[in-house]
Amino acid sequence: MATEGTHEPIWGRVQGVPGGSLNKVETVGVCVVGAGIAGLSTAYCLAKSGVKVLVVDDGRVGGGQTNCTTAHLSNAIDDRFDEIERIHGKTQSQLAAQSHGTAIAFIEQTVQRERIDCKFSRVPGYLFVPPGDSTEVLAREEAAARRAGLSVELLVKVPWDQYDTGPALMFPDQGQFHPIHYLEGLARAIVDAGGRIVTGIHIKKIEGDGVFAVLETKDDRLIRADAAVVATNTPINDRLAVHTKQAAYLTYAIALAIPRGSVFKALYWDTADPYHYVRLADIDDKGQDVLIVGGEDHKVGQAHDQRNGSVDWKPGHASAFLRRKRFVRAGRDRCWKRSTGWRSSVATRETPTTSISRPAIPVWA
Ligand SMILES: Cc1cc2nc3c(=O)[nH]c(=O)nc-3n(C[C@H](O)[C@H](O)[C@H](O)COP(=O)(O)OP(=O)(O)OC[C@H]3O[C@@H](n4cnc5c(N)ncnc54)[C@H](O)[C@@H]3O)c2cc1C
Repeated sequence: MATEGTHEPIWGRVQGVPGGSLNKVETVGVCVVGAGIAGLSTAYCLAKSGVKVLVVDDGRVGGGQTNCTTAHLSNAIDDRFDEIERIHGKTQSQLAAQSHGTAIAFIEQTVQRERIDCKFSRVPGYLFVPPGDSTEVLAREEAAARRAGLSVELLVKVPWDQYDTGPALMFPDQGQFHPIHYLEGLARAIVDAGGRIVTGIHIKKIEGDGVFAVLETKDDRLIRADAAVVATNTPINDRLAVHTKQAAYLTYAIALAIPRGSVFKALYWDTADPYHYVRLADIDDKGQDVLIVGGEDHKVGQAHDQRNGSVDWKPGHASAFLRRKRFVRAGRDRCWKRSTGWRSSVATRETPTTSISRPAIPVWA
């Protein structure tokens, strides 16, 4: 697909992780495959509890989807509590709410414990409807989220001076951080606790021999482990059960430089289909905030793509749409461009890229 701008997300690359190599045969406690946020979080917990852990990745640390995330840490689930409760019932909906809250707290505690400088902060999150849409969805979601145990509040509008969004459902105690700096801290803590991280190792096969999990690498090394954890985002050990329930999706994210403090620091989501998500990041040292706008997720490889793909879904068109419709007066700065993600009932998304320079005033109109 032809794309404009750069494909590199704004987070940069993980730095300072000690390299390592593998012997022809390795015997470890647990082998974690995948050095994204899932793999490193698992490895961190294992290493901290004294397990001899080895993390392998065929790319670099944090070079997978974690590199592309917009890093909203949220218990306001994209699929909505109303929908989760309808399909799975109230108890499961409560579990979903709790697990997301626990995950945010885990990151917060890990940041504090390991003194990770990743600009973690608690922020509110606001869900609102696109102009002209019925707000009934917010009332339904408020009731369902409360039944799931969350203290949500239906407000008159998002706290923006520039634009009246109409009613917004506020989720307190959400979070945001710099995902790559967080991974750097996790990696450091894993190594400090005696774990190893080896990159450039592709696992091609995982089998059990009755006692050990046996992992075979592309360059014919063997790793024998008491247990293996597959944290590869989409499974490499099971090519049927999960893959047949997944579809490839594409999503886009752009980063806009805005005057510091001009937009209230929070997470923002709309209920459009496809939806949009917005947050701020203070990674710019020129006295500006960076406004990250993502969304426009769509399934790829469809007949529709064949017919209209090069017109409707070019990342450039999507980012132009986002700028024009959501943030007028926004220049272009950086935009993650294309990458293909897999989505199943547990949604994952992937990314695009561009570039920006003029100040952006958000106008959700
Ligand atoms: C644009 C965008 C925005 C997003 N925004 C959010 C958000 O705001 N909030 C949120 O919670 N989530 C968001 N997500 C989703 C989130 O980024 C992912 O769910 C998360 O990063 C997945 O992490 P992971 O560790 O499971 O996978 P990854 O980060 O992809 O890590 C998997 C690793 O496994 C390695 N690997 C794969 N196969 C092998 C193999 N055979 N051998 C060795 N290594 C292998 C890969 O190299 C990779 O490094 C977003 C995603 C995108 C794309």
